[in-house]
Amino acid sequence: MAKDKAIRELEDLPGIGETTAAKLRAAGIDSLDKVAASIPAEFSEIAGINVEAAKKAIQAAQESTTVNFLTGEEISEKRKDIGRISTGAKDFDELIGGGVETNGITETYGRFASGKTQLGFQLAVNVQKPKEKGGLDGNVLFIDTESTFRPERIAEIARAQNMDPEKVLSNIYVVKASTTPDQTLAIERSDKLIQEKNIKLIIVDSLTALFRSEFVGRGALGERQQKLNMHLHKLQTLADKYNLAVYVTNQVMDNPAIMFGDPTTPIGGNVLAHAATTMLYLRKSKEDKRIVRLVDSPSVPEGECVIKITPKGISE
Ligand code: ATP
Ligand code: MG
Repeated sequence: MAKDKAIRELEDLPGIGETTAAKLRAAGIDSLDKVAASIPAEFSEIAGINVEAAKKAIQAAQESTTVNFLTGEEISEKRKDIGRISTGAKDFDELIGGGVETNGITETYGRFASGKTQLGFQLAVNVQKPKEKGGLDGNVLFIDTESTFRPERIAEIARAQNMDPEKVLSNIYVVKASTTPDQTLAIERSDKLIQEKNIKLIIVDSLTALFRSEFVGRGALGERQQKLNMHLHKLQTLADKYNLAVYVTNQVMDNPAIMFGDPTTPIGGNVLAHAATTMLYLRKSKEDKRIVRLVDSPSVPEGECVIKITPKGISE
């Protein structure tokens, strides 16, 4: 629809002058989106204009705000570009629809020694392989918040794949983060590195540990969730923009409210459950065995498989 004048702020709406705009802002209606979502009767009262004028202003705001949409077909086209990184175990790959996918966030949660970090190391090696071998010919940005990055372990896994350990390590860009600002800024400022170094996998190990230790007590919970949410949002944006995979790890906390079954829930609660595309629960079984449970995925059914953590890495 052709418009006489682009509507960019409240004052550009029909019937809304400076004074009225000031009243609206004072009442918290400070953007076109908020006008567009207003109810005429309420709006007319706040703005001090009649209901008809309010309807016109709201309609103009609705027409001015654009919704960015893609058609189903465009999304389907886009999804054809999605890449997958093999976990190193056939059953595991099948469980998650062919491997850890790009364009999304994959989260594992589980108790200590359940294999979250080991899976990260394996993916950091595997992503460097060519596509026909389960990789993406890409490199890695590794945010290490727990000082558990072990080059010697990665070298061991690389050797088991007949890859040059030094070369593999030189393609992993590690950021040590000891505070949540370190962690979030590393991601916010990563665009250049991602482009220049062909990053195809971002690992945040652990996503939640620093947040948990910095934001303590009930009062801090809201702020923690909000910051975590923004961090995840940025990760998802990068995943989409550069068609890369994001792998994050999360601890569990004991949940005394659950009397039967496994009384553990991932840290971060709802925010994480909604932000992660694929959620995996890892738990220790006998010896080197681990049980992987697919808890949530948009396209594949829930299920379980068993993997092993061996000196050579993850295997079936
Ligand atoms: P946390 O919550 O403490 O970070 P995690 O889930 O990240 O725990 P990992 O560090 O991934 O746990 O797993 C550690 C386990 O991996 C060890 O207990 C061991 O069983 C196994 N592991 C580590 N290195 C090797 C190796 N070189 N050979 C065989 N198994 C190994
Ligand atoms: Mg770990």
